[in-house]
Parts: sequence; C-alpha cells; structure tokens
Amino acid sequence: MNKKSLKYQEIVVYLLPLVIIYITGSYLIRSSIHETLVTTANRYIQISDDIFSDVENENKTALLDPTNCVLHEQNLRYEHDIEEMQVFLNQDIVCSSRGDRVDMKAMYVSSEELSSTLFITPAPYSDTGTGISVINKDKAGNGYYAVSSIERNYMRSTVGYWLNERLKRAVIFIDGASAPLGQKKSGSNPQYIAISDLYGYEMLLEASDTFVSERKTFYFLLSIPITLVLYLTLYYMRYLFSRERSMYTEVKLALKMREFFLHYQPHIDASSGSVFGLEALIRWQHPVRGVIYPDVFIPLMEEYGLINEMTDYVLETAYHDLVEKDLTAGLHLGINVPPGYFSDKKNISLLKKYKQKFDNIGIRLGLEITERQFLDDLARESISHLRTAGIDILIDDFGTGQTSLSVLEQTNIDYLKIDKCFVDSIGHESVNAPILNAIINLAKELNVGLIAEGVETEVQAQYLLAQEVTLHQGYLYAKPMPIEEMCSSEGKLKELSTINPLRA
Ligand code: C2E
Ligand code: CA
Ligand code: CA
Repeated sequence: MNKKSLKYQEIVVYLLPLVIIYITGSYLIRSSIHETLVTTANRYIQISDDIFSDVENENKTALLDPTNCVLHEQNLRYEHDIEEMQVFLNQDIVCSSRGDRVDMKAMYVSSEELSSTLFITPAPYSDTGTGISVINKDKAGNGYYAVSSIERNYMRSTVGYWLNERLKRAVIFIDGASAPLGQKKSGSNPQYIAISDLYGYEMLLEASDTFVSERKTFYFLLSIPITLVLYLTLYYMRYLFSRERSMYTEVKLALKMREFFLHYQPHIDASSGSVFGLEALIRWQHPVRGVIYPDVFIPLMEEYGLINEMTDYVLETAYHDLVEKDLTAGLHLGINVPPGYFSDKKNISLLKKYKQKFDNIGIRLGLEITERQFLDDLARESISHLRTAGIDILIDDFGTGQTSLSVLEQTNIDYLKIDKCFVDSIGHESVNAPILNAIINLAKELNVGLIAEGVETEVQAQYLLAQEVTLHQGYLYAKPMPIEEMCSSEGKLKELSTINPLRA
C-alpha cells in the first residue's frame, strides 16, 4: 500500500466517527423531538375527544326536547365549553342557547357537514373563523339537528398548547379546513400529525424553535464525552490491532512506550559458587502477544536501524534497575552491544559516561560484543579506547563467526564467551568438541578470561572446571530473571543457593 492511500485511509478512519456521531446525533435529536410530539399529540387528542363527546351529549340532550328553547338556555348557561348551541329543523333555526338576547344568526351548515359530527365553523359566523362545531341529528328522525360551537379559549386552555413552550403551533384539521384558520400542513420545524380514532380529525403539532435548540444543545453536550471516549478507544484499538501498523512502527512505538525490560542472568564463579557478574538480557512485554524474546525482535531492530536506540535504552534501564540496589562491590555487568554501535562517536562518550555512573555504584561495566558482524577499523579503535578507559570487553559467541581469530589478533579483549554450542559438545562425540579445547587453550595463551555460556548439566560444569574454566553461565545455576527476584528486600544480591536451591 502506498503512502498516499495510507494517508487517505488514516483520514477516513479518523473522520468516520465524527460523521457517525453527527448522523446519530441528528437522528437522536429528531427522534427525541418526535417522541415528545407523539406523546403530546396523543394526549391532546384524548382531551379533545373528551370535549367533543361532552358537547355531543349536550346536543343529544337538547334533541330530546328540541323546541324547548328556554330549557336549552338554562342548561347551557354554566357550560364553559359551548359558545352557542343552535337547534335546526331542516334549514330553519328553531332555538339558540343565547336566547333572544342576540339576533338569531344561523350557523351555516351545508348538507355535507350534516353527515359528519365535527366541522370547522366557517366565517363569517365565527368572529375569527377559528371555532370547531359539533353537530348531532335527532335520532327520532323528525328532521331536527343541534349544532354547538365550541368556546375557542376553553378549547385552547384545556388542550394546553397555549401553555406549552415546546410547541410552535397546534392545529386541528377537519376535512381540509384548519383551526386556527388558514394553517398549512408543512412547517419549518419538526412536526407530527396524529389522527383521532373517534372523530377522524387530525391534530398537527410543530416543535418550537426553543425546543429544537434545547434538544440540539443537550445532544451536543452529550456528544463531547462520547466523542472523546470513542477517539480514545479508536486510538487504542489502532495501537493494538491495526494491521496497517508496520513492524517498524510497532518496535519504534514499543521503545517509546517503554515496553522493553531486562532480565539478569548471573555469571557464576563455579570454584567458589559466588556470583561474579550479571548479564542484562532484554525482553519485550508486548501488549497483546505477551513476552517476546530478543531472537525475534533484535534482527528487526537491526534491519530498521533502531538497534542503537535500543542499546541506549538497555544502558539506561540497567542503570535504573541497579542504582537502588546494594550489590557486592566489583560485580560485573555484561551489556550486549552490537558492533555497529561503536562507529558513532556520540555512543562512545555515552558509554564512558555510563562507565562512570556504574563505577559510582560499585559495578564494573563490561560490553559483550558479537563477532558475527564485521568490526571495522573505527569500531576496533573505539573498542580499544573504551578498554583503556576501564570498560571490560567480552567477545560473545566466540567461535561461531568467521572472523574469530583475526578479531583476537587486532583487538585487545578481557574475556571470551564460549558459545553454548561448544559447551553442548561436552560428553558427546561432536565436531565441536575439539574446538572447545582449542578455544580454551587459545584463551590461556592470550591470557584472556573465559566465560562458558549455556552450562546446563553437572557433567559440563565438572568438565569445564577440570579445564580451569571457572566462570559459568547457564540454567544449571540460574535462568535469566528480574532483578527483584535476584535481590533480597534490602537490595542485596541473594546467595546462589536461595536463587537456585539445587545449588545449595
Ligand atoms: P547471548 O548474548 O548469547 O545470550 C545468552 C542467551 O542464552 C540468552 O538468551 C540466555 O537466556 C540463553 N541461555 C543462558 N543460559 C542458558 C542455558 O543453560 N540453556 C539455554 N538453552 N539457554 C541459555 P536470550 O536472553 O534469549 O538472548 C538471546 C540473544 O539475544 C543473546 O544471546 C544476545 O545475542 C541477544 N540479546 C539479548 N539481550 C540483548 C541486548 O540487550 N542487546 C543486544 N544487542 N542483544 C541482546
Ligand atoms: Ca551475551
Ligand atoms: Ca551465545
């Protein structure tokens, strides 16, 4: 995948949550407003239906004795919901609940309206033309019918939209006409239309600007912590699982996140059983894969040019691990340093600085250098310089590389580390067996110390001791372990017998 499309992908990944939050936010705003409108509309319909059926009852009562105008007047005197009731015989007005005090202006009732129960009182009868009327026919079939116009203010205050600041308008639609008059079904804010099961009219509610902006503010405030959590999760998930995350980014990040730590394995003086030194061995605490061993990531570090950064990290960590401890004065510390590290002047002065720091806490710094890689002139010069400055130089895995002898010829060193493959040959008819003896003799001739690596059995230990190879490192004595496991609570190095009971 090229860089450009990776970048594009990155942008998409980080923008997507914003888009999702925006879409779900808008959806939630709309649905919460909608829910309020639905509940309110259903409540309003119920209240309105109750009013209409009350008025119907008044109409029906009047129709029991249609021509008794005085009775209607008396009955309705204290009814708040009815503005006026008129009783008709065919097209002619018979009574009005207002009695004779007003001129008997008949409400216009078309033949169509006679077939339904509710209609909008048309102008000019109603002053503002916004009333709703209820019509009932005489059941006895004598041609009478009663029409009651509902008191507008009563209707408004009972339904409640007058008081509800969440609503911009509440409109009742009956057969295409509206109350209040002249309203349209479309609006700029979210709205909802409910239909009465009982009377078939429509109740339209439109949300007010205040309500809309109140909901928007609420969801905006709510979305801030959600966005934050989402991005943190996303970032963490990408950090953990991203397939796009290259091995390079992975190890680079691991250094930054300080996921590497050190185990220490003792070098034992097998003649006395005391601990002569420690070798620092790096491990990676991977957040998903658990502990990873150096054989896996060191080649990557080398390939990506991060190995020097890692060496700096090891020096710093080892110092940090040991500074608070109360170790035996003169204890050796072996740090593995790849040959390439010596080609940079900056690293040389850093090593000298650490030599000083370790001296101050009674530790003798040693560098374990593998001779598998080529040591150039500059590196050899630097190594000699460091040795003069008092740092021990150890050749690691001696005998496994191609330049073993020439290295010895050109570089002064303190110790050779006999690789495990030669120690393994002890007691076996192996091609490596004569080489082991050759290395031992060579070291004696050159007056160089020897440390045998990978000692696993008593037979190997005894053989090496018989050859006067006294410094041993291996599972027979101790496996690499955290420094805390090696030290007592006071920070003193434990006896070998307590680290490994088999050596008691
Ligand atoms: P090495 O320097 O030869 O380290 C010795 C390795 O042999 C260690 O493996 C150690 O755990 C293992 N070992 C010690 N005794 C025995 C034994 O009795 N039996 C067996 N089977 N193994 C034993 P580890 O820790 O996995 O390290 C492997 C290699 O990784 C090291 O080989 C060294 O080359 C490299 N390495 C480790 N730490 C560092 C570091 O901090 N920097 C650099 N540059 N390389 C490191
Ligand atoms: Ca080593
Ligand atoms: Ca080795």
